Amino acid sequence: MPVTIVLGTQWGDEGKGKLTDLLAADMDFVVRYQGGHNAGHTIVVDGESFALQLIPSGVLNPAVTPVIGNGVVVEPQVLIEEIDQLEARGVDTSRLKVSGQAHLIMPYHVEIDRVTERYLGKNSLGTTKRGIGPAYSDKATRVGLRVQDLLDPKIFREKLDVVLKEKNLILAKVYNRLPLSADEIAKKYLGEYAPRIEPLISDTVALLNDAVDSGKRLLLEGAQATFLDLDHGTYPFVTSSNPTAGGAITGTGIGLRNISKIIGVAKAYLTRVGSGPFPTELFDEYGTMLVDRGHEYGTNTGRRRRTGWFDAVLLRQAARINSLTDVFLTKLDVLDPFEVVKVAVGYQCDGERYDSVPYHQSVFHKAVPIYKEFPGWQCDLSDVRKRSDLPKQALEYIEFLSEQIGVPVTMVGVGPSRNQYVEI
Ligand code: GDP
Repeated sequence: MPVTIVLGTQWGDEGKGKLTDLLAADMDFVVRYQGGHNAGHTIVVDGESFALQLIPSGVLNPAVTPVIGNGVVVEPQVLIEEIDQLEARGVDTSRLKVSGQAHLIMPYHVEIDRVTERYLGKNSLGTTKRGIGPAYSDKATRVGLRVQDLLDPKIFREKLDVVLKEKNLILAKVYNRLPLSADEIAKKYLGEYAPRIEPLISDTVALLNDAVDSGKRLLLEGAQATFLDLDHGTYPFVTSSNPTAGGAITGTGIGLRNISKIIGVAKAYLTRVGSGPFPTELFDEYGTMLVDRGHEYGTNTGRRRRTGWFDAVLLRQAARINSLTDVFLTKLDVLDPFEVVKVAVGYQCDGERYDSVPYHQSVFHKAVPIYKEFPGWQCDLSDVRKRSDLPKQALEYIEFLSEQIGVPVTMVGVGPSRNQYVEI
């Protein structure tokens, strides 16, 4: 059963791109299953840096078929721009397939995302304002337009007219904005985008299941992370899709029994962007060291990320929700100079001990971590490539995490380059 899922286990930015890139070398298909053009992978190949937000990074490997699955929301202009950017640099994108069932991000989604965030003011969610949330909302309320609608101008126009009438009312009456023109949208989507995207549109559910049946190797690549999951994350500070393993199933149409490996990517410490609970957050010099050494600034916004100690309580939950088979622990090298390293093994909330994440958000907000403390290794790990060369303090830390999570840490990252990792 050759299907592997790679997903984030924390609040994102764990270094999924690096693992995906490493594994893609042995894959036939690399598939995105949720999210939109907010994934932000940067992959460096032969010194050249490629910034991809929508197209799976597997596109850089000529032996891989990159697929945008049905669970993704597609901004057609971004898709075309990424294709053009890659082609201009000599990357062949002709193997790319896009699910006809994937939903389209429309100009009114972007506009609504912008105005609602502004309207919410200090209560805003900090969305990327790219229309991703509103596109998923329309999918749920069944007024979304799908990639396959680009193939049928009459249907496209009919659906657009119905939905735009309501969107324009909201824009005008609630937010005091100018209405959008159906003619202009149709001209862009049908006249400009459809001819470019049409050759890529596929029945990806059939394609991927046929691939599974014929023994091909597939990698399902998650964007964002477990605690940003719409159902399992720290709602409402979450994304509008399901990055967890369940999302990989619905977002591709590949059956559960075909999944052989589910690799959770976890940073050796913890970061979070924007608001929401974060029990192990650090406000001292250790927190600043994590920001500086880990270059913890948002890829798109440049915003400083919040940082803290590794939280084994969260990881235990992530292991359960996703049925993790392996953990890839990234950025262990960031902890190199630390004299002590801490791990949260439980929480104290209102005088009560919790060994799992409190389901009630009001309780979780008050969680005070119970730490286990380790001596740091205080040496440079960046050149280590073998388990036997890891200092005993680092091994002790890794083994403790495996034990706490209940899933083996099978790989650790010791630097940003593709070859900077150690198999455990
Ligand atoms: P994603 O959002 O989870 O896909 O995260 P990325 O793949 O964009 O990785 C975030 C950053 O961490 C990138 O700049 C990577 O080069 C860097 N990175 C990944 N693994 C390691 C590691 O083991 N050590 C260090 N120091 N940096 C790493």
